[in-house]
Amino acid sequence: MLIQLRCALPALILLVLASLASAQSDTPALISGFSPAHSAAEIKLESQFKSAISRDRIRDYHRYFTSVPHPAGTKADYDVAQYIADEWKKQGLEDVVIRQYDVLGTRPVSTSLEMVAPKKYSAVLREQSYDVDPDTNNPEVSSAWIGFSASGEVTAPVVYAHSGNPEDYDVLRQHGIDVKGKIVLVRYSNPYSYRGFKALTAQRMGAAALLIYSDPAEDGYKKGKVFPDGPWGPESHIQRGAITYDFMVPGDPLTPGWASLPGATRIPESEAVSLPHIIALPLSWHDAQPLLANMDGPVAPKDWQGGLPITYRLGGSVIAHLKVEMDNSTQPYYVVEGRIKGSEFPDEWVLLGNHHDAWVYGGVDPSSGTASMMEMTRAFGALLKQGVRPRRTLVFGSWDGEEVGLTGSTEWGEQFADELRTKLVAYLNVDSSAAGPDFHGGASGSLAPMLVEVTRSIQDPSGGTLHDAWLKTTAVERKEEHDTQAVSDANVVNTRIGSGSDHTVFLNFLGRPVITLEFDGPYGVYHSLYDDFYWMNHFGDAGYKYHATMSQLWGVTALRLAQADVLPIDFEFYGNTINEFLTDLEKNQSYDPAKLNLSPAHRAAKELESVSTKTLAALKPAVASGELTASQIASINRLLMKGEANFILPDGIPGRPWFKHILYSSRYTYAHLELPAITEAVESGNWTQAQHQAEILVKALSAETELMKQVASVAESLPVAH
Ligand SMILES: [Zn+2]
Repeated sequence: MLIQLRCALPALILLVLASLASAQSDTPALISGFSPAHSAAEIKLESQFKSAISRDRIRDYHRYFTSVPHPAGTKADYDVAQYIADEWKKQGLEDVVIRQYDVLGTRPVSTSLEMVAPKKYSAVLREQSYDVDPDTNNPEVSSAWIGFSASGEVTAPVVYAHSGNPEDYDVLRQHGIDVKGKIVLVRYSNPYSYRGFKALTAQRMGAAALLIYSDPAEDGYKKGKVFPDGPWGPESHIQRGAITYDFMVPGDPLTPGWASLPGATRIPESEAVSLPHIIALPLSWHDAQPLLANMDGPVAPKDWQGGLPITYRLGGSVIAHLKVEMDNSTQPYYVVEGRIKGSEFPDEWVLLGNHHDAWVYGGVDPSSGTASMMEMTRAFGALLKQGVRPRRTLVFGSWDGEEVGLTGSTEWGEQFADELRTKLVAYLNVDSSAAGPDFHGGASGSLAPMLVEVTRSIQDPSGGTLHDAWLKTTAVERKEEHDTQAVSDANVVNTRIGSGSDHTVFLNFLGRPVITLEFDGPYGVYHSLYDDFYWMNHFGDAGYKYHATMSQLWGVTALRLAQADVLPIDFEFYGNTINEFLTDLEKNQSYDPAKLNLSPAHRAAKELESVSTKTLAALKPAVASGELTASQIASINRLLMKGEANFILPDGIPGRPWFKHILYSSRYTYAHLELPAITEAVESGNWTQAQHQAEILVKALSAETELMKQVASVAESLPVAH
């Protein structure tokens, strides 16, 4: 019916009809970027795709992925890669290959820790087994270890340094405590910082070794019931993890910026900036408590006191002997790649990825995501067998070694950099898919509106749409954080994207837009033995409802991008977002308006927003009219796809050349960091650099505005209707 409306005021009538229809239903009558005919077909296709997703099959996949420990570089992890490749072939995916990267790897040989004074205590360094969960009784499970710890042996006094952030060492210094040559004991959280940043900080302070333990205040009994009675971490749970300095260069430390293929140049280890030089070990609170309880030094500050029934002190007469032997040599990592070639635009790619390596079983991280992915790819394969092929190419990546410096995705992204820069429409990352019912969606600014729109078409297991559930959850979370901003479509998406997962190479190195998706919940067993099948079936997502919702959401998001006439990339929203980033920077304590004038950047971002508003005003009715020609659409999409690249600094952020995005990066703690080059210059008081970087931003914004004007001029050259 809609397609018959032509001539005169078709666009206007269509818009009115569309908005009337969408007032009654949450599925829009007209999907952004789709002509009326294509929109109707897309809604049908999506419902076919969604109904193909089976919770039972996801549970079966999840049982497979959580059946054996499979850290990166092990035979078990290779077997997982092989299984994924075989399944994908059976499902009907095309060009399935396993890519091998020979990277500097890490594995433990032996670890031991004893307190030698004032009392003797031998750390267990293992997690307790429970009869109700036979998987906790597997002899293949590793003891405590940290990826990329240095090898070595030390006997030294132990100092408690709270969270191990730089300001914590200031407090120690005020108490006359120097950590040089000592063993530093720190907590994982409070406030959270990436363990690699704790390692770098301890190394810079001259500490001989670093112990990182899980305090019950953060993920244990102070939060609620512990495993196997609840979702929180029990007494012996150990948070494994790597400490590579991947906030400087992710991936193989010896091939910064290029892929670890056979014959590739490798830099000497002495020049690898991401390689730690400190001995490190993770501890359960069971093993940390004897060290803390026997300290007799000054009482630690109030906010350093944790959840154990002791008085936390800064140090004193506790002496420990720590020995760590590592094998940090070359190992093969395996990335699995598959695709469904696009019927009309095979050289425009939508990439979907998840990692397959896990510290132990990876019940949540990443096996929930891997299980959601396998069911999603099965549904795409089933459509293909019925002759349904998306217009653009879907590429699937099952990364390896994410847990060790984001390595598999980084090497793959570096290997195919040239192709990805021109062909990649967007990257959709799912690491953990479901640890509970609370949805978190993130997107680089240009993709935020389309993500909101997609969630209106997805049912949430709680009833109602995912969109409504997401707004509700976010409102509750903001209340808990005393954030007074009312939740709306304009701010529900997290557009402040940091690092810590596989989207990093695509956003920060290659300058492609990304989306990240996750369901979260109470989860205290991260990177421990207890993050397993039992945990998922009792606490995380019994019934696999959220896993299935993720398969649907992830797949539908990909379909929208793969099927759209005009790509749903929104620079009006992006311009507005960049203005917020600038306003945030002006609130930075180090910012001095007398030394750096951000008005030109504000003006340029505003200009991008207002020009994009006009562009969208021309584009939307043109798309809705269904009368844009194929060549007009092709040139509009070519322009839209160029947009993100305008934000790439060829030489990267000063001091961190691998990170090239002018808007996005992360702090060394992994926390998000917007406008990284300007912000880091401001924070170090380098006003010449700050000014220079602000000028680069203005140029990038102006280039973006020019691009939007070109899009508008193509859209406005709509041929006169017949
Ligand atoms: Zn993960």
